[in-house]
Amino acid sequence: MSEPVLGRFAPTPSGRMHLGNVFACLLAWLSARSVGGGFLLRMEDLDTQRTSAELGDIIREDLTWLGLTWDLETPAQSTRTAVYDAYFEKLEALGLLYPCYCTRSLLHSPNAPHLSDGTYVYPGTCRDLTESERAAFRRAPAWRVRVPDRVWSFTDRLQGPYAQNLATDCGDFVVRRADGVYVYQLAVTVDDGLAGVTEVVRGSDLLSSAPRQMYLQSLFGFSAPAYAHVPMLLAPDGRRLSKRDGDLDMSALRRRMKPEVLLGALGYTAGLMEKPEAVSAMELARDFSWDRVRKDDISMDSAVFTPLCGG
Ligand code: GLU
Repeated sequence: MSEPVLGRFAPTPSGRMHLGNVFACLLAWLSARSVGGGFLLRMEDLDTQRTSAELGDIIREDLTWLGLTWDLETPAQSTRTAVYDAYFEKLEALGLLYPCYCTRSLLHSPNAPHLSDGTYVYPGTCRDLTESERAAFRRAPAWRVRVPDRVWSFTDRLQGPYAQNLATDCGDFVVRRADGVYVYQLAVTVDDGLAGVTEVVRGSDLLSSAPRQMYLQSLFGFSAPAYAHVPMLLAPDGRRLSKRDGDLDMSALRRRMKPEVLLGALGYTAGLMEKPEAVSAMELARDFSWDRVRKDDISMDSAVFTPLCGG
């Protein structure tokens, strides 16, 4: 028997959800619910400066308004330091961690190594420092995990085959910042792994994170979930929609339309409906299939958005 499906939505409560967040959440929910799977909610509030419990409450309320139900909510990441400590210690016991003293300006200087798409590759500057070289810095370091020279590959349900050699495409990456805060890559791997999440559906901006998470899963003994990285919604100038696009955040959308109208417009935008008709989330789940979901980023200029942009 195959294991029960468990999907999840892991928002960062740093602002009101915008259309792009709702779009990704809807597809994650449909993917799990269409096969009778469970759905988990988790607040990714590692950055306590930018996030708040109140914004988490508003996200829950917006999801309830949309009918995007969840079966359980696992503890917010800001409360999980002791759990992440245990996994950090595992990496340490494997001899894979080292302290890094590189400053942000050094890492992002124009002379730093970058791939052709601008992605920064850590060149291993602090990999082999001696104890006395480390001591000379007299400040708390960030901690990086060594990556092997091997390819991590998987087939994304929407984007197709994807592969990265972490050694050449990314370099050793930070798992704990100098201020002691764990980074997204470690926290998300631990939380999804411990909760038994079987499928991760999120924006395609996170596609390049998956190999780092697969590497950590392999070290922690978690099995890799299925991945689907969904199209980004783009503002007319080509930018990704962000929390600054207030006219398309949930407060503006809720003022303008009923949940079924918004869900119908998003279902149509995704490629799941012929016309943008009012529909419930459950009705959309009934004949959901990844084969029908569009793969490419979607510009707000395109006709599919008309029903959402009108007054
Ligand atoms: N917290 C991330 C965000 O809000 C999502 C991370 C994930 O789904 O893995 O963009």
